[in-house]
Amino acid sequence: MHIYACDEGAPAQDKPLTDDDIETNWDECIETFDAMELREELLRGIYAYGFEKPSAIQQRAVKPILMGKDCIAQAQSGTGKTATFAVSILQKIDVAAADCQALVLAPTRELAQQIVKVVRALGDFMQLQVHACVGGTAVRDDIRTLQNGVHIVVGTPGRVYDMISRGALRLDRVGLFVLDEADEMLSRGFKDQIYDVFQYLPERVQVALFSATMPLDVLEVTNRFMPEPVRILVKKDELTLEGIKQFYIAVDREEWKLDTLCDLYETLTITQAIIYCNTRRRVDWLSEKMQERDFTISCMHGDMGQGERDVIMREFRSGSSRVLITTDLLARGIDVQQVSLVINYDLPTNRENYIHRIGRSGRFGRKGVAINFVTQGDVRYLRDIEEFYTTQVEEMPMNVADLI
Ligand code: ADP
Repeated sequence: MHIYACDEGAPAQDKPLTDDDIETNWDECIETFDAMELREELLRGIYAYGFEKPSAIQQRAVKPILMGKDCIAQAQSGTGKTATFAVSILQKIDVAAADCQALVLAPTRELAQQIVKVVRALGDFMQLQVHACVGGTAVRDDIRTLQNGVHIVVGTPGRVYDMISRGALRLDRVGLFVLDEADEMLSRGFKDQIYDVFQYLPERVQVALFSATMPLDVLEVTNRFMPEPVRILVKKDELTLEGIKQFYIAVDREEWKLDTLCDLYETLTITQAIIYCNTRRRVDWLSEKMQERDFTISCMHGDMGQGERDVIMREFRSGSSRVLITTDLLARGIDVQQVSLVINYDLPTNRENYIHRIGRSGRFGRKGVAINFVTQGDVRYLRDIEEFYTTQVEEMPMNVADLI
């Protein structure tokens, strides 16, 4: 497909864009799955999975995607974006043709694997092949699976590109290209890889972008490959969810964070909790310290082997481990409904990931609590987050356990 150079294609701009320049341009809602005119076996899959009524983003975004429109779909975390594109893809696929017809890219292996599970579950009554094409697995197995024919590929950019280069994955029949966590995928770290994949997609491929956060600079970049998209956007002051209470604990000094966390341990285990540190080394350090003090925790980051990562995720998803210490590797997309508490042991270094991290709790309208550890030096960063999202982060009350 064609990607316009920086200023080609995009309208000339005299002044920088503001929030008000890029607005939602689609508000039609379809309030039931029945009214979406979906194929019978897909509808069965949706109800069998336990969904009764489409969420707000599902009510709005499925239709334009089915109409073939390029789409930028933003919705708060935990409100069902995955099923929005999964249902759309499943409706569009021709199961009789054994070609890859939809490609979904996600930033982490764990998220890609999770998406595959949702697509398979919703498509349970269709004769479908869905493949997770992610790093850390055997290349040879990947090639074999792809050669046997798959309808839908969900993957991480590196491995997907590798499979394309080896001729194992052909994209010429892809009708729909989805970028989940699109702002992350189009940010510095991933952009080149995504554009590499873009080159192999058919000229007229339909594109759909999803994320809870869509910063302006990313929306601007989309001009280059989406000339007239349907846009369903959320204003940044509506991005924090009512159900997720946000607190801070003033720890003053870095050295006091550990004791503070240990004091909170019982609260952490009421349901399940995720603790975020900013680096892999800090995750290792904190895990070690907690274990030395006989607290049961598990930890995960990107330096670990995929086998180990898979085990840790499985244990956390099943509830057999309850407290997970990790990095931003798991800030986005991961859906574990039992998580009701998120701790920012370190404040995130970007505003977007603040929203994504706290959104690991309070999934699909559940209650959630986020607690930020704030040193003296952090105070202004927290103020910045409050101001940016027009939200309130209050001092943690004594009865925080009652809110979980
Ligand atoms: P997002 O991608 O928007 O952060 P997910 O797609 O992970 O959110 O969905 C969050 C949770 O909500 C998942 O556990 C999912 O199964 C559930 N969910 C999604 N849509 C519905 C629905 N229509 N009815 C009930 N639960 C839903």
